[in-house]
Amino acid sequence: MELKQPYKVYTAASNIEVHLIVEMLGSNGIDAYAVEDQSGVSLFSFGTIGQFHQPNVWVEKSTAQAAAELIDQFFEKDQPSADSSTNASPIEVECEECGKVSTFPESQNGTTQDCSHCSAYVDVGELDWDENFGEADE
Ligand SMILES: [Zn+2]
Repeated sequence: MELKQPYKVYTAASNIEVHLIVEMLGSNGIDAYAVEDQSGVSLFSFGTIGQFHQPNVWVEKSTAQAAAELIDQFFEKDQPSADSSTNASPIEVECEECGKVSTFPESQNGTTQDCSHCSAYVDVGELDWDENFGEADE
């Protein structure tokens, strides 16, 4: 290790993860090193557990904060946020006339469009109607 003030910035869940992070930090100009904790457990025969080692990411202490932020960003990118406001998934609408499903872009959410099969009017997404609307018909 060539760090003057080594600082453990992250404990990875796997060896693959630790190497991804070291590589990512390196490409952002931060010297990082993967060091595996030798807890000694792996010296004993516990079968094929193999998850006892904890690979750690070490960086120079002066770069620790930047490294931590990069690691945060790195993981945020990987995880699609559940409450994404940039949800661009198409909306599927079942036509009340013909029973077939038409697909409309998210941008037409809340509008009335023509069924792509029979040209009947269909409501795309959620309109501001009472949820009980039409329930009596069923
Ligand atoms: Zn239809």
